[in-house]
Amino acid sequence: MVNVAAIVWENAAADPDRVALRSARGDLTYGELRDRSGRVATAVQAEGRRPLERVVFIAPTIIEFPIVYYGLHAAGVSVITMNTMATAAEIGYVLDDSAASLVIAWHECAGSAEAAAADRGLPFWRIDDGAVFDDQPLAQAHEHEPDDTAIILYTSGTTGRPKGVELTAANLVDTTASFTPVLGLTSNDRFGTALPLFHVYGQAVIMNLTLVSNASLSLLSPFDPTAMIELVRNDRLTALAGVPTMWNAMLQASDGYGPRDFEQLRLATSGGASLPVEVMRAFNERFDCAILEGYGLTESTGAASFNDIHRVLKPGTVGPALPGTSIEVRSPDGDLLPAGEVGNVYLKGPTIMKGYWNRPETTAAELRDGWLTTGDLGKLDDDGYLSIVDRAKDLIIRGGYNVYPREVEEVLYEHPDIVEVAVVGVPDDHFGEEVAAVIALRPGTTATVDGIRTWAKTQLSAYKVPRLIQFVETLPKGATGKILKREINRDAIR
Ligand code: ATP
Repeated sequence: MVNVAAIVWENAAADPDRVALRSARGDLTYGELRDRSGRVATAVQAEGRRPLERVVFIAPTIIEFPIVYYGLHAAGVSVITMNTMATAAEIGYVLDDSAASLVIAWHECAGSAEAAAADRGLPFWRIDDGAVFDDQPLAQAHEHEPDDTAIILYTSGTTGRPKGVELTAANLVDTTASFTPVLGLTSNDRFGTALPLFHVYGQAVIMNLTLVSNASLSLLSPFDPTAMIELVRNDRLTALAGVPTMWNAMLQASDGYGPRDFEQLRLATSGGASLPVEVMRAFNERFDCAILEGYGLTESTGAASFNDIHRVLKPGTVGPALPGTSIEVRSPDGDLLPAGEVGNVYLKGPTIMKGYWNRPETTAAELRDGWLTTGDLGKLDDDGYLSIVDRAKDLIIRGGYNVYPREVEEVLYEHPDIVEVAVVGVPDDHFGEEVAAVIALRPGTTATVDGIRTWAKTQLSAYKVPRLIQFVETLPKGATGKILKREINRDAIR
């Protein structure tokens, strides 16, 4: 049987009293998770929903998320999870595009979902703290065919309208299978995260992996660096999952703590955006915990490559391909490039999506002979470790020279007064594009534009030094904490 819920339910049958989930509102055992998700599944079927119908589900990082999520999988429907901040118009677009037939939302973020469902005459379920569905739990999870669409995740899309990424029942199970050996995860691990569970990384990688592995998952919502540090200590977490901005925030909030405060913590997984080497080094020193950086896209079920706990950790790389995945780096003409050369990254393997929902032409353009076009520029080393150089669309071309924003950011992160930075290209009459840096300074520091520029000149070739620098309080971030370059107002940078 290929159904991630069935695997979690098997764990529950084997050891029902083991703790599956922990949150500020209490713990949930595997037995309770199986029982409560089984009741959701029965209710979904009683509502008349049939396998592969689409159901939209919106909830934050709380224990009700997996309860409803696995209930929907067990009922066999295709689950569409959406951002808790989505507006009624955004939800309406997804409902129309996917022809969904049921909408479920956590009560604190239910307003927009309820309005969008009402506009279309669709049934709407509001979930709250005490929500326990009354019927008997479903006896057995639906048996999916491997290629059945288990989830559809809409990517926010930098161009055009969002596209629904169809991930299959096999994609979900294969993703957990490829990560388990890489992290050396066992049922004794206690994972913790504040990642949004509606996004591929928190959901299909971390939540599914932990619960398939019979380990426990502590949930924090919303992310707060001090609360996260306390969670690591109180729940004696052995593993953390997050994104670079979270590690950075935890570092800033952890003065007074040292490695001895976090003795049981053995690893942290980082993805979604590049991890500055300096942040990795400082985190390792403070928390005595390696950050394993990996790389993936929604289109690859969040998985592609990862620094393996059992292999040499190479900072600045996103590790070798996960078991079963192949990575190629190709020139713009499609020729395979040798190790060390930068080109377009392509992926193939069991975690690659089935396609974009109802978009056969886009699917055919992005997915050829099983190879996914990622839109990222990268290079492989002789050991097969991948480095992501940048997104192809973020590359700055200044006076004919290529400037990779990430390289400039890495250098600026070494400046003692800089907390966060994003380097972007802004239009320039003379050079075509000019290099600009948007910087958040450490509170109480007095760095100046000239000072930073002079310092950068000692580290970088002249053409890479940001000519334009803007100081801001914080940088715009998306749901996962990823810095959103597209939301930086380039006209405001002088
Ligand atoms: P949207 O849905 O807004 O289009 P997105 O393109 O960021 O968002 P995701 O699928 O969440 O969607 O992100 C995948 C992208 O994230 C990759 O294509 C890559 O550019 C970037 N990425 C992921 N991990 C890393 C990493 N470790 N280093 C650098 N970039 C990364």
